[in-house]
Amino acid sequence: MSLAPGSTIGVIGGGQLGRMLAMAAARIGYRCHIFDPHYAPCAAEVAGRFTRAAFTDEDALRRFGEACDVVTYEFENLPVAPLAVLGDRLRPGVRSLEVAQDRMVEKRFIAGVGSTLAPWRLVDGGDDISAAFDALGGPILLKTRRLGYDGKGQAWVDDRDAASAAWEAIGRQPAVAEAKVAFEAEFSVILARTAAGETKAFPISRNEHDGGILRRSVVPAGDLIAGQQGQAIAEAEALAAALDHVGVMTVEFFAGADGPLVNEIAPRVHNSGHWTIEGTNTSQFEQHLRAICGLPLGDTALVTGAASMQNLIGADVDCVADLIAEPGARLHLYGKGEARPGRKMGHVTRLR
Ligand code: AMP
Repeated sequence: MSLAPGSTIGVIGGGQLGRMLAMAAARIGYRCHIFDPHYAPCAAEVAGRFTRAAFTDEDALRRFGEACDVVTYEFENLPVAPLAVLGDRLRPGVRSLEVAQDRMVEKRFIAGVGSTLAPWRLVDGGDDISAAFDALGGPILLKTRRLGYDGKGQAWVDDRDAASAAWEAIGRQPAVAEAKVAFEAEFSVILARTAAGETKAFPISRNEHDGGILRRSVVPAGDLIAGQQGQAIAEAEALAAALDHVGVMTVEFFAGADGPLVNEIAPRVHNSGHWTIEGTNTSQFEQHLRAICGLPLGDTALVTGAASMQNLIGADVDCVADLIAEPGARLHLYGKGEARPGRKMGHVTRLR
């Protein structure tokens, strides 16, 4: 299947990733149709068509699918069963979603493909937290199995007595407990995979988080990560192949003294790849569209020596006037309303 320009790409989810997908689609002559339950999601402002319906609304999803030539998603916390009405029009398929949206399923999958993870335990109650603390040797990080993102649904357990408070803090949800990783740095492999199994990775960024939220991505990533990138890309390719993934996929890694550890998979374009809009010959957004439309993958070489991406989170957007005045700062604002704490409002890319 190869979809010509003029075809309609459906995007489930109307956040900033959908917005940047729609902008990339428009640039190369494709139409976008956004599906999202909110009134005015920021992606709908830049797309020709918008369906407002619940992610569980099978009739709406069926009609949406019939109006699109291919359907993708920009958000992994989607109910999987209703997506069956989209059949093989959905790229990537539901397997990538099923694995990425449940941390237990994801960890078993990653280990099964042969990658190394931080030691972890399943948690279904407060007693499991104490047992995990003893087994893993605290501190440990509790993460809800489902619906966590940007540090939400997570709680550190620094001593054994804090187990029940941590269980309350994550809302008594089924969870995993992870040993604390003494990592030197974090990085992500972002790659695209075609239906024929061809893959192409982007240059790797070093990612800096604060409070569980990505703050900055920097390329080149430095010597430590450069030494681990061959293994990390091979692992990401194996994970994508095992999912039969079509489109862009991201694997987040910790760079430790003993080599890379996989943190998690995102079955989609990723915040740590926003710098590719200006920084590589083909952006992650265009690459995703190419992969799902059956076009050849584009070149991912850096267009300059170095790039950095800084997220504008919450009140960070107050410095927009300074960024507009800064020569070379490429400002992206997502058109969202209220700048709530922790909300991703935009980003700025700088090339050197
Ligand atoms: P996650 O939502 O799993 O991507 O976690 C968000 C961030 O929290 C990561 O990017 C790390 O900075 C930190 N983090 C997550 N898991 C661990 C861990 N097991 N040990 C230390 N830091 C972690």
